[in-house]
Amino acid sequence: MDTEFPLPFVPSHSPPENPGEDPLLFCFWRRELLVTPDGIMPTVSEIDQHGVEAVRTQYLGQLGERPCYSAELEADFKAPEGFVTRDLRMLFGSLDEVTHALAGRAVQIVEWDRTHQHCGACGQATELSTTDRSRSCPECQIPMYPRLAPAMIVAVERGDEILLGRSGNFPPGIFSILAGFVEPGESAEEAVIREVYEETRIVVENVRYFGSQAWPFPNSLMLGFTAEYKSGSVDTRYDAEMESADFFHVDDLPNTFPGNISISQWLLNDFIERKQGKSGS
Ligand SMILES: [Zn+2]
Repeated sequence: MDTEFPLPFVPSHSPPENPGEDPLLFCFWRRELLVTPDGIMPTVSEIDQHGVEAVRTQYLGQLGERPCYSAELEADFKAPEGFVTRDLRMLFGSLDEVTHALAGRAVQIVEWDRTHQHCGACGQATELSTTDRSRSCPECQIPMYPRLAPAMIVAVERGDEILLGRSGNFPPGIFSILAGFVEPGESAEEAVIREVYEETRIVVENVRYFGSQAWPFPNSLMLGFTAEYKSGSVDTRYDAEMESADFFHVDDLPNTFPGNISISQWLLNDFIERKQGKSGS
């Protein structure tokens, strides 16, 4: 018996022979998505009606019955009447979650295709694979896949306190939980321990996985963790980007980024709910 794919979107690199429904088209000018001002995604025929030309297109997969494609727009592209281009960060809340995630997938595939037309080793034109989402050099045989950068983000707790820091490029007064990229050869848990130490000189233990989030700005996979304070006192002098950091009590938290769209906020909210629930307030 055939069973249904367990997620709303079924990714694939090979387009259907008969598209059936008018496909959705995720067009990007630079990293901005072409949508209506109300956040409605256009279809291929709607885009065709406006005479919009794409530099290249990519098949993404199937959203229910609807095939989905991405397209790279010309550098001098101007949005036709009734459309705007928007950074995906501006579209949280105006696109539904599944469509927003699909747009995040699409922009990364468009960018990968745009920047891997030639081999990085010998300069030859690359060819699209028919077996998976890759391009490869016919000379070197080096496969090139879409880039994905794993990063960790961690809520460090010390009793009813949480470790928050601010980097110099944050808006004034805003703090956030700590984050950093995983380095080659390192586990995500090791990255948690290393980053927290590098940024604040705090040693953590009991590192536990919380959840993850695709974060297409530009190509991260955020791996969320909780961890417990073990030893040390906060010292940010050894990290050039960290302006200040401290442990804050759950009842006396500083300003953080508003909204509830990122795993950073989900981790902080989880901390607040657990601690305030415990104290019965
Ligand atoms: Zn090559």
